[in-house]
Amino acid sequence: AQPLLQVQNLSKHFNVGGGLFSAKSVVRAVDNVSLSVEKGEVVGLVGESGCGKSTTARLIVGLIKSDDGKILFDGEAVGPTMSLRELRRRVQMVFQDSYASLNPRLTVEDTIAFGPRVHGVSADVARERAHELLRKVGLDPAVFAGRYPHELSGGQKQRVNIARALALSPRLLILDEAVSALDKSVEAQVLNLLIDLKDELGLTYIFISHDLNVIRFISDRIVVMYLGEVVESGPVDAMWNRPRHPYTEALFAAMPSLDPDNRTQKPPIAGDPPNPINPPSGCRFHTRCAYAEQVCSDNVPKLSPAGPDRHVVACHMVDAKSGHSLAGSRGER
Ligand code: SF4
Ligand code: MG
Repeated sequence: AQPLLQVQNLSKHFNVGGGLFSAKSVVRAVDNVSLSVEKGEVVGLVGESGCGKSTTARLIVGLIKSDDGKILFDGEAVGPTMSLRELRRRVQMVFQDSYASLNPRLTVEDTIAFGPRVHGVSADVARERAHELLRKVGLDPAVFAGRYPHELSGGQKQRVNIARALALSPRLLILDEAVSALDKSVEAQVLNLLIDLKDELGLTYIFISHDLNVIRFISDRIVVMYLGEVVESGPVDAMWNRPRHPYTEALFAAMPSLDPDNRTQKPPIAGDPPNPINPPSGCRFHTRCAYAEQVCSDNVPKLSPAGPDRHVVACHMVDAKSGHSLAGSRGER
């Protein structure tokens, strides 16, 4: 089957500095990123902050314009055959809950009806649609339609944000830290709501979170980014049991354990991420990688097949180290 979304060699570089006292520099926020998302799939996008996850998301929805690369939605190239306006209807984003994400002067009903109204839907039909969506996200319209954002809890605000994102019947939702600000119990409720909505409405998700337990819970596949590049992607279980890229391995190993007998925080990845203004040569992870050899700083590793179901990894040493210490699964440590 044709993927719902194909991102091909997408790049976005930002110019920074260039003031009186500083030279102009280029931040390679997203560099030659390719990924594909099948219909009905949940793809988890992970990596340390500043790795380009959110920029990738904003490029996909057309909130910012790429310097290079191609986006195909349902096989149609965005730009040549599909307008940006049409893409923005089919792909919607939900951001981290914050008071600022909802207009404090709009009622819940008007917030959800806004998109349809802009697209020419009559006020009555848009209101009916808003009420239907409120029911879908578990909020009784009789109680919530007339409320303002300050009268909502964090979980209720995120439900309204989800309803608003669904108002134009999108095919793909990109959820950028959408549950990250919520208490654990509320987070679980919203995650379960998202899973139910996905099944009921035939949606596809790209799910961005710094919380790898959430990612593991909701994702079918994971895409790992480091300093603007994809370093590994593949099925969640295969990557969880046997991460192939040393960065994926280190990221998972740094997670706080959920096992009550083993609550100790594992050592984090050595050092901070390097400055994306002048990323390291060759493999960008070589300054922090325990397996780095000369070839790693000399040559850029290409994404290559690493297993079934589109599992790919970009690492020079992936074969060399597979018989050694990294071969053990997480469960064995
Ligand atoms: Fe480490 Fe080299 Fe692989 Fe990069 S290419 S992750 S530096 S072993
Ligand atoms: Mg972010």
